[in-house]
Amino acid sequence: MTYISTRGEALPLTFEDVLLMGLARDGGLYVPAVWPTLSRETIQSFAGKPFAEVAASVMAPFVGESIDKATLLAMAEDAYGHFGHPAVTPLVQIDRNRWVLELFHGPTLAFKDVAMQLLARLMDHALQRRGRRATIVGATSGDTGGAAIEAFRSSKRVDVVILFPDGRVSDVQRRMMTTPTEANVHAVAIKGTFDDCQALVKAMFNDHAFRDRLSLSGVNSINWARIVAQVTYYFVAAAALGAPHRGMTFSVPTGNFGDILAGWVAKKMGLPIERLVIASNENDILPRAHASGVYEMRGVVETSSPSMDIQISSNFERYLFEASGRDPAFIRGAMGALSQGGRFELAATAAKFGSEFHAASASEVQVADAIRRTKAASGYLMDPHTACGLVALESAGPQTQTPGIVLSTAHPAKFPDAMERITGERPGLPPRLSTLLTDRERFPVLDNDLDAVKRFVESAVRSASAGAS
Ligand SMILES: *Cc1c(COP(=O)(O)O)cnc(C)c1O
Repeated sequence: MTYISTRGEALPLTFEDVLLMGLARDGGLYVPAVWPTLSRETIQSFAGKPFAEVAASVMAPFVGESIDKATLLAMAEDAYGHFGHPAVTPLVQIDRNRWVLELFHGPTLAFKDVAMQLLARLMDHALQRRGRRATIVGATSGDTGGAAIEAFRSSKRVDVVILFPDGRVSDVQRRMMTTPTEANVHAVAIKGTFDDCQALVKAMFNDHAFRDRLSLSGVNSINWARIVAQVTYYFVAAAALGAPHRGMTFSVPTGNFGDILAGWVAKKMGLPIERLVIASNENDILPRAHASGVYEMRGVVETSSPSMDIQISSNFERYLFEASGRDPAFIRGAMGALSQGGRFELAATAAKFGSEFHAASASEVQVADAIRRTKAASGYLMDPHTACGLVALESAGPQTQTPGIVLSTAHPAKFPDAMERITGERPGLPPRLSTLLTDRERFPVLDNDLDAVKRFVESAVRSASAGAS
């Protein structure tokens, strides 16, 4: 499989190149040159199969020659072997024909573990083949940093440095980053905001000498391998509920458009998804664009679902590329207008976007109400991100014969303050995380100063690689 850039001005690459590179040199995102499909028989055979086996079958056509199927399966078994539930992503029924797909049984209690655990193993494998090391630097507002540190803490070839805004992530989120003791993973508090952290990361990537010396790499949600790894659970859930003989509706709590794009890819591969619902919180750039045909940035408002508090949805570029009939000139124009004027017109892509998705935003009042109602009716406790998904699913119409599946992207214990405000109770952490709140933390606090951060990254990487060899 080869990969092409949405902006049309970068060379085609293999899966391994795309895995290690992230953003294309022309500023675009990589997409597969063709969309593979799975037969109805293959989809049917997924019912009851172990998650790792489905993952290997779904990902094999995207990985192509880079990794043989047995190795891919072994990586998936290793990645998913230590999730907190043997089904990896279990389905829970909450109403007559409504289901919650729990994606939060990984080590950091959010769905990002599903992709990140496999991504770490894929990157180690690619780096070993090339006899190289890499350094991941990233900024996090909460969930991504912890998932990356957990995924790479056993890596022999990758060092990870995650910057987070000092005092602005929850205790649980910070501790997930600062309690691992391995020498190759580091969380750094920056005296500044999340935007300052992102600017520091960007500046490190823009210093080409520094970037090459440390082999900088990224694991944010525009990394194609993360999207592919998320396609698996759409097949797993749909096959369990009767696909390919029955269609499904999936409602997906959405921030950067990564998770819902994975659902669109599953459909493209032949999964009979009747409806894909984009669920946002009050940061509603996608529902607004869906209704008006204009994609327009606004300021971010803080909500009880912070992982969806975004200004723009980076992965939307991949969908726009498809909706435009793969027209890189349209993408260059739209993204240019977005960075200069903060908006662009969907133009010819609006009709397709309108028909392929339903989109709705959930207000804070609706989120709290959905959590309380569901608890009262079925005893099921969902987190505020998941509740956005339920509100959006309900806005798409009443229950029908078609199963409605809400993706649950976080465990309620990850957001205890919001849950306590809404329900009056603080959800407890699962037993396997019982020491998280008392384990020793380790992290430096640095000024928002590029040179100081670069010095830290260089010394961290030097001591880790000295220890490894
Ligand atoms: C990252 C995240 C999301 C948004 O996912 P995208 O792929 O960015 O759309 C939703 N919920 C939680 C809990 C997350 O961590």
